[in-house]
Amino acid sequence: MKYKWMIVLCLCLLLPQIVFAASIKSHRFESFQYEVIAANNNSPQILRIEIGLNSEIDDYEVKTKSSYATDLIIEFPNTKLGRLKKPLAIQSDLVKIAKFNQENKDTATVSLTLPVKTDNINYKIYTLPKDRKARKPFRVVIDILGEKSYNFNVNGVAGKSIIIDPGHGGSDSGAVGVTGVKEKDVNFAVALKVRDILTHAGAEVIMTRLNDRDVYGPNATDKQELDARADFSRRYHADAFLSIHSNSFVNSKANGTETYYYNKTIYDKILAENLQRSLIDSGQRMDRGALTANFYVLKNSTVPAALVELGFLSNPDEEELLNSDDFQTKLAGGISVGLSKFFYEMSGKGSNYL
Ligand SMILES: [Zn+2]
Repeated sequence: MKYKWMIVLCLCLLLPQIVFAASIKSHRFESFQYEVIAANNNSPQILRIEIGLNSEIDDYEVKTKSSYATDLIIEFPNTKLGRLKKPLAIQSDLVKIAKFNQENKDTATVSLTLPVKTDNINYKIYTLPKDRKARKPFRVVIDILGEKSYNFNVNGVAGKSIIIDPGHGGSDSGAVGVTGVKEKDVNFAVALKVRDILTHAGAEVIMTRLNDRDVYGPNATDKQELDARADFSRRYHADAFLSIHSNSFVNSKANGTETYYYNKTIYDKILAENLQRSLIDSGQRMDRGALTANFYVLKNSTVPAALVELGFLSNPDEEELLNSDDFQTKLAGGISVGLSKFFYEMSGKGSNYL
């Protein structure tokens, strides 16, 4: 008698969980189609990939293994591969192959192998509803729009090796804007764009950090942290060192762009002046000039070095700009052009300063 009641009790406890488990919808891939849409006056060639699913999904996620990776991976939670198992060859210049993988019992992925790093490709991902007339299921659509084009003249950087130091990171946020934009994130976003433009133009770029971290280690002293960054110039045979920062001041009206250098060689000033000029050209903010400063990374770098202050996070207008992809791209272009002009100027002088 007692046991019977216990069984009933157990069932009662289990029931809500069974109901809950059944309510999580499981998706399944139904189809995979692609078409190459020819370029016209308004848009470039597009490779459109449509992944059909038996039910609507909105929590798919784009993943890449690292910013250097060439695989664009889309992860679908609660999804089964269905019929899509074997890799598919794609007749296009933009993607060569699509691979499907059941990562674990719930998660399926689609990975598209690109000819260049995922960072250098423009793509768009969106969904389309089921279309009964066209007999198409619910679809996740990936438009591959081609390689990002950079309209910056940065030929001067080809063959040069440049250290890029995104200021702050990890336990140190740097300045925080009026609405909470963190300096470390702005500096890093711009640094990544500079890296892409420069490497695209044939330069070698060494980053002092490749993610949101302290370079020396969490909660180090300022000197330890800054020395870990300056140390890159001692460890690598680079042609220039550039630290990227965003400014802050008690008065929220303060605004504009400035570049710092330390007069350890005659080249530091030339580097800073070229960067400042190009940053003003591209960002169009107030010109606060190229100024000398006793900053640790500038003084202790063994190569010509400059530190740019892109704008003021304490100024609401500039905070909004600094947080926008468009403005970050403009500034990254300005920095890259500035570096290129610096190397041109040096070669014109027949300089062999390293
Ligand atoms: Zn800073």
